[in-house]
Amino acid sequence: MKEDKETCIFCRILKGELESSMVYEDELCVAFMDIQPVNPGHVLVIPKEHVSYIGELNEELGAHIFRVGMRINKALRKTDVRCEGIDYFLADGEAAGQEVFHTHLHVFPRYTNDGFGFRFGPDYHYMSPREVLDATAVKIKAALK
Ligand code: 5GP
Ligand code: ZN
Repeated sequence: MKEDKETCIFCRILKGELESSMVYEDELCVAFMDIQPVNPGHVLVIPKEHVSYIGELNEELGAHIFRVGMRINKALRKTDVRCEGIDYFLADGEAAGQEVFHTHLHVFPRYTNDGFGFRFGPDYHYMSPREVLDATAVKIKAALK
């Protein structure tokens, strides 16, 4: 579900209409604290440009979002925020769990027994046959050209 700039929560944060706890800003993107953190230290990195899905973003800008996400990783590890590991997550589309349709990269600390986890589907334990993997690889390879 696309959202327009006027109603988009993240655009409103960018305009200063909604409060936020900023950790980083440059000409292309900002990073701020997630209001409902998976764990303390949960940061969102977003482009300043309103784009709903990652695929609509210029590749350089996409790379920059990840670059900033890497810097947040290093910064988190220098703080006293509990951080034994770090997860990166980007939900692209409603079916993938996206709720705010201004693309964003989640960067959040993880630690043993923090209670967070991905839930796998019932068929997850089956190893895919090689011919199925190969057939899908062929399709993706062709689409990449
Ligand atoms: P998504 O499910 O789209 O990947 O993640 C959206 C994220 O935005 C959620 O983790 C949610 O907590 C966060 N979020 C939603 N509204 C606000 C807000 O007003 N301010 C901040 N800082 N984060 C928000
Ligand atoms: Zn927006």
